[in-house]
Amino acid sequence: MVNAFDIIIVGAGPAGCSCAINLAASNLKIAIIEKSIFPREKICGGGLSDRSINTLKRMPNEIYNDFLNQVEKVDTKGARLFSPSQLFYDVIPQNTNTNGFICKRLDFDYFLLNKVKAYKNITIINSKIESVEIKSESVILKTDNDIFTAKLIVGADGANSIISRSLTNNFNIKKNKIVAIRAYYKNISGFDERNLGELHFLKEIIPGYFWIFPLGNNEYNIGIGSSKILLKRNKIILKQLMNEIITNNPIISERFKNAELVGRVEADSLPIGGENTKIFGNRFLLVGDAASLIDPFSGEGIGNALLSGEIASKTILNCFSKNDFSENETKIYHKAIKKRLSGEFKIHRTMYYVTKNVGFINFLMNKANNNRYFQHTIQLMIDNSQKKWLFFNPIFYINLILKK
Ligand SMILES: Cc1cc2nc3c(=O)[nH]c(=O)nc-3n(C[C@H](O)[C@H](O)[C@H](O)COP(=O)(O)OP(=O)(O)OC[C@H]3O[C@@H](n4cnc5c(N)ncnc54)[C@H](O)[C@@H]3O)c2cc1C
Repeated sequence: MVNAFDIIIVGAGPAGCSCAINLAASNLKIAIIEKSIFPREKICGGGLSDRSINTLKRMPNEIYNDFLNQVEKVDTKGARLFSPSQLFYDVIPQNTNTNGFICKRLDFDYFLLNKVKAYKNITIINSKIESVEIKSESVILKTDNDIFTAKLIVGADGANSIISRSLTNNFNIKKNKIVAIRAYYKNISGFDERNLGELHFLKEIIPGYFWIFPLGNNEYNIGIGSSKILLKRNKIILKQLMNEIITNNPIISERFKNAELVGRVEADSLPIGGENTKIFGNRFLLVGDAASLIDPFSGEGIGNALLSGEIASKTILNCFSKNDFSENETKIYHKAIKKRLSGEFKIHRTMYYVTKNVGFINFLMNKANNNRYFQHTIQLMIDNSQKKWLFFNPIFYINLILKK
């Protein structure tokens, strides 16, 4: 049987659900096709920064309030950054009412999908898409025993997107890849009461970091990630390295003295933004990880997944109002994403490369602990993303040496 829809969204992670929720009021006939049965885990740190929160706030039907009341999470005031020399500096935004949160993706993604279920014009189908074909009048999606058609499709199917693989050249272009592992632990000690997410820049893995995020109830999300090229070049196996850090790093091992692993250590890749990724075409758009929108410095992708779903919904409504699903119309989505994210990706990509140097991070951390000019300027950069360019301004470094 052929099942016909106006729009099919492949993947019910944050990107797919955000797109569906933002399209719901249109009354278009929408399907989300998702291969996993929810609640399902996603390998992730589960850190929700202000971009995630602000996108949730813009969603209809008080979804943000329901998120506050219904999703198990801890609120966090910011992050604690550790240098290889084990000095630390707390990054606490001062000019925002929006706390960040840390949660399990099992809970967050299930919450969002349940919100989608409330809309009568959205059908949720549990199936794995195996092929996609763009025709002149529609798109045909096939599972092993079903055929679906739509006027337009959204690839929200994550880092290994079949939609991107089938309709673009993205997977054949050599790109810088980040890989990471994640584990849940109990009984880690030595936490700040503000629930700061900890990022440890260790000499073995920079650029990249080891993280410990508190989840409440004495549970922690920990992980480690870095550039695939670096790991290969230095023959680093992430699981081994994580064990070594937990057992031998003088500061971290003390805090893991009584710690217990809960479940398995799992790995996944992070498709980072700022590469030349094709994210639109005739009758299709890519959102979230399928569009490679993860922040190249922090590794955060949930906020950009939610945001890209929202931005895509606007282009989609435009396509339907003009009855035009060609590249000419869908490229408006690409322009909007570029306008919103490309400057940020450039800065964060450069920060990623600059922090390759152990001596440089130690120098900055030393200044962060002792130099009021640095503390003031860093706070400006944290509170106003426009000011992050200061990081690349030689005058900033001259002042850093001259001023106290
Ligand atoms: C180790 C690690 C740690 C991370 N930590 C953070 C963090 O702390 N904060 C943060 O903001 N980001 C983090 N990220 C990034 C974040 O996890 C992703 O950016 C985010 O999940 C992207 O959402 P998405 O909806 O695009 O894709 P996903 O969440 O991957 O959802 C894609 C969905 O598509 C479904 N699907 C896939 N293929 C098919 C198919 N063929 N047919 C049907 N369905 C399909 C999948 O089952 C899945 O449910 C981390 C990533 C990793 C790997």
